[in-house]
Amino acid sequence: MHEMQKKYESSIAELAECCVRTAGLGYVTSHGGNLSYRVDSDVVLITPTKVAKRKITFDDICIIDLNGEVLYAGEGRRPTGETPFHVRIFQKRPDLKGLVHAHPPVLTGFAMADSALLEKPLLPEPIIEVGPMVPVPYAEPLSDELAEAFDDAIELSNAFLMKNHGVMVTSSDGIERALDFLEMYEAAAKSIVVSEMLGGTSTLTKKDVQNLDRTMNTRGLPMPGRPGRVSSLVQLFFT
Ligand SMILES: [Zn+2]
Repeated sequence: MHEMQKKYESSIAELAECCVRTAGLGYVTSHGGNLSYRVDSDVVLITPTKVAKRKITFDDICIIDLNGEVLYAGEGRRPTGETPFHVRIFQKRPDLKGLVHAHPPVLTGFAMADSALLEKPLLPEPIIEVGPMVPVPYAEPLSDELAEAFDDAIELSNAFLMKNHGVMVTSSDGIERALDFLEMYEAAAKSIVVSEMLGGTSTLTKKDVQNLDRTMNTRGLPMPGRPGRVSSLVQLFFT
């Protein structure tokens, strides 16, 4: 085992496990999607290009720095072609540790639809735990424009709907938590589709969201987004 693999052994194993879990949930197919896990301020574990997520094992995981330079990659392995957007987000959000980019079918449907429902305050738990689903304009996969497309949104939440592409969900607690958040949002998206089928979706009121703000203050829960950037949920949803 390479010395860097040894140093980050348990985190590499955790990331590999999350890749298989992401594929098992049906959130990516084949080579699709990419995951990364910051394990030191300037060290990021990241998935390789052209390996199916369901097959990823410990030795497939690459190690890069915050400039995207490869610190370790196994034989025949290279970091994902989406490395530029992962490192750009880690640079702009020093608090973040885990990033999952995937194409879960229901959330991706919202990404293609002309619907702003996911941006509205609908369900208290995803809002409190993850933050609102903030839209990111379309940019071609693997382009520098895709990395730049996140610039306006990245400080505001930990969940992002990538127009006509998919979703990116992040966590400051690690990669497993980021994937938990993605699961939470895909379930919420399914519920929204059902409520639309049943005649329409009602949103939380401003008063409801003010109460959520009060609850978060009482419980000492952090606001979504970059620490210190968002002062209240009401500010996020109603301004
Ligand atoms: Zn993608």
